[in-house]
Amino acid sequence: MKKTIPLIVGNWKCNPVTEPQAAALVTTIVKTHKKAEAPYVVIAPTALHSAAVGRKLTSSPIMLAAQNVSSFAVGAHTGEQSAAQLKDGGVSVVIIGHSERRAAGETDAEVLAKLQAALAGKLIPIVCIGEKKRDTNGNFFTEVETQIRSFATELTPAQLKKVVIAYEPIWAIGTGETATADDVKEMQLFIESTLTKIHDRPTAQSVRLLYGGSVKPHNAAELHRVGGMGGFLVGGASLKAADFSAICKAVI
Ligand code: PEP
Repeated sequence: MKKTIPLIVGNWKCNPVTEPQAAALVTTIVKTHKKAEAPYVVIAPTALHSAAVGRKLTSSPIMLAAQNVSSFAVGAHTGEQSAAQLKDGGVSVVIIGHSERRAAGETDAEVLAKLQAALAGKLIPIVCIGEKKRDTNGNFFTEVETQIRSFATELTPAQLKKVVIAYEPIWAIGTGETATADDVKEMQLFIESTLTKIHDRPTAQSVRLLYGGSVKPHNAAELHRVGGMGGFLVGGASLKAADFSAICKAVI
């Protein structure tokens, strides 16, 4: 993927309820996004709907993602899905360490193990980071830096270049509140400088960053133009084909 082309990822979370509903939603999205480039588009349905959604994407430039991956390659791990199984099922991208998974107990160490499994399985990993709340003293920067260090220090520059980092302030997810476009820009620069300290500037600049947190058609253009990120991770608005399509159009 060329870093100059924005990436828009739709995270469907635990929606919709039925497979026909998932198939209908992706069919509408496919119709509105026929171009191979600008932006790149990724859809992450539930594991159960992945095959049905994937079938609708066979002759589409839209990529299929998973919302989680096992840190194990194979074996006795009930309820897990390995990177190789996802790849075999047509998945090319995986979301790792989403705040909703971290809230359910996923640790930085588990996020790192999953990230390494995804890289070994040749999936494109999207690692989610973001502070729980904002404070006026800027302590949230330390929280974000700790999350970045927990995986970036363990990867080589060559590995890190393959990782997408999604900055998703938790207070903005599903709440209708967004970081301002200037806050997003400030965080883009902060993440880049943190990665530069860990590795070097060329490596830091080659990592794609996304913003996520109540991105909607009305705020997408400004968040993209001012925020300086390489695209968006979209939750709620990705469940409405018209809104998702409007967000995709807002970044080109
Ligand atoms: C998300 O789930 O990653 C997300 C950003 O959700 P929403 O767009 O609904 O805030």
